Amino acid sequence: MRVLLVEDDDRLASALGTALARHGHEVVRTGLAVEALRLAGGVGFVLLDLGLPDMDGLDLLRRLRRVSAVPLIVVTARTEERAVLRGLRSGADDYLVKPFRTVELMARMEAVVRRGTRPRPRRDDVVSVGDVRIDLEARQVTVAGEAVTLTRREFDLLAMLAREPGVVRGREEILDEVWGDPLLSASRSLDVHVANLRAKTGRPGLVETLRGTGYRLGSPA
Ligand code: CA
Repeated sequence: MRVLLVEDDDRLASALGTALARHGHEVVRTGLAVEALRLAGGVGFVLLDLGLPDMDGLDLLRRLRRVSAVPLIVVTARTEERAVLRGLRSGADDYLVKPFRTVELMARMEAVVRRGTRPRPRRDDVVSVGDVRIDLEARQVTVAGEAVTLTRREFDLLAMLAREPGVVRGREEILDEVWGDPLLSASRSLDVHVANLRAKTGRPGLVETLRGTGYRLGSPA
């Protein structure tokens, strides 16, 4: 299997690379997040260190998941529950906390591969519901042909729901992806943003509230 090793620590990367090669894998290595985004398309597995010099590893993971369903294990020195939680929420298939034994890594990789691939991410750039048109690429929203001005966060929230229409996204999940903090659950900010989206579009049904569960893209009629 072609494995992309995203690790900026040379010593660790070379030790891991050797171990992977010994198990018959072909290793592509980079220590940079920007490179990782470019290389991920051509591999069958990704091992991702969260502490990278040019981008937060979790941001990289999210960006990667928008375009790729490649099996991925997060390798982290961070033991905090929050980082691990966010890693898994952001699309990691599993995680390992450094230091770990190579046999452990191989077993986890095998298990992830055996579990099969996750559904491919949506590639639609434009999502339409009723007379609301959400252009995810251009970050533009129109209602009945009229442009609606949203703040960055309002758009991010709407885009997150629009990327998977019909899927309910939990409050924590939204706070994690849009606000970058899943434990900001006491924050009223999310409620305010939802209210703003409904008011600005004039389509209260666009964001549907599922009490105690979360939100999903609704029908705006
Ligand atoms: Ca590192």
